[in-house]
Amino acid sequence: MIHESIGNYRDLDFNFEEIELESDLRLSNVLGKVRINRTPQGLLLDANFAANVVGQCVRCLEDFPQQLTTEFQELYAYRSRHTKDAEFFVPEDGFIDLSPLVYENMLLAFPIKTLCRPDCKGLCTECGINLNNATCEHVDSRVAY
Ligand SMILES: [Zn+2]
Ligand SMILES: [Zn+2]
Repeated sequence: MIHESIGNYRDLDFNFEEIELESDLRLSNVLGKVRINRTPQGLLLDANFAANVVGQCVRCLEDFPQQLTTEFQELYAYRSRHTKDAEFFVPEDGFIDLSPLVYENMLLAFPIKTLCRPDCKGLCTECGINLNNATCEHVDSRVAY
């Protein structure tokens, strides 16, 4: 098609094995669907991503795998005097690198407080042992309620 009219869209599937831009979050097995809508202002991306991350349990401090999902929209504007203050522009080479956007939105989706499991027993306040895997002499002295 030589001439594509405004209002066209294209659906793309994405599959990144790994995205690691900063050391604080490592995404693996990143799968996503992106709809690229052509609008008069530019390309409007409608994205849906899922990824595996390793989180840390706030109670027992163990690392454990979890899945994150995120949905976001972003406009890549065509360069013109009307779009001077746009955040993103359609690149000259026609390739949009999605990984920074996916990373940023996954960071936002990453829960601040996570438990490795709902009934995580946590660490013993006396000796610091992980009570999910072991018991210690202090367990019996805890008050049951
Ligand atoms: Zn835990
Ligand atoms: Zn203990």
